[in-house]
Amino acid sequence: MVRLILLGAPGAGKGTQAKLLATLRRIPHISTGDILRAAVAQQTALGLKAQSYMDQGELVPDQLVIDLIRERLIQPDAQQGWILDGFPRNVTQAIFLDELLAEIDQGYSHAVNLEVPNEVLVQRMLGRGRKDDTEEVIRRRLEVYHSQTAPLIDFYRKQQKLMSVNGDLSLDEVTAELERLV
Ligand code: AMP
Repeated sequence: MVRLILLGAPGAGKGTQAKLLATLRRIPHISTGDILRAAVAQQTALGLKAQSYMDQGELVPDQLVIDLIRERLIQPDAQQGWILDGFPRNVTQAIFLDELLAEIDQGYSHAVNLEVPNEVLVQRMLGRGRKDDTEEVIRRRLEVYHSQTAPLIDFYRKQQKLMSVNGDLSLDEVTAELERLV
């Protein structure tokens, strides 16, 4: 069973790779960013709470994503495995995830870090044209990544769960590398 946590900076290609791998393995691709964007588009209570943080490149409050991940991981389709993309985003969320997985009798073998140089990240994000991909917001998202999310690399390394993949290769090469690992 594949249960994979995909780590990497914004623009590293997590979403693209997670989608491909999830399709190949027929398991859900769980992206907190996608779920939050859908909630914003539908103007749900969650969306209304999350929108201003997202527009500024800040993380939304932990409790919002923690609640939605709990809901998502207990769905029937998630019992066949999953790929997490964009969660956890800080150490608090990572600790919560470990506790949740213990509680619902799930585990994971690895957290895979997609490594991409900073200047490549900015270029990729500018090319995406997403609403929150203005240069100022991109810069802020990278700062938030370095201060809050990058510490997860050490968190998973200490647990001997960390694997790294060079994300600065062609799309197909990265997919092949990820496939080899899972
Ligand atoms: P992403 O699509 O993963 O780049 O996420 C887009 C935006 O959604 C981020 O800039 C955050 O504002 C918010 N977001 C997504 N996942 C999380 C998370 N796990 N914790 C906090 N905020 C998140």
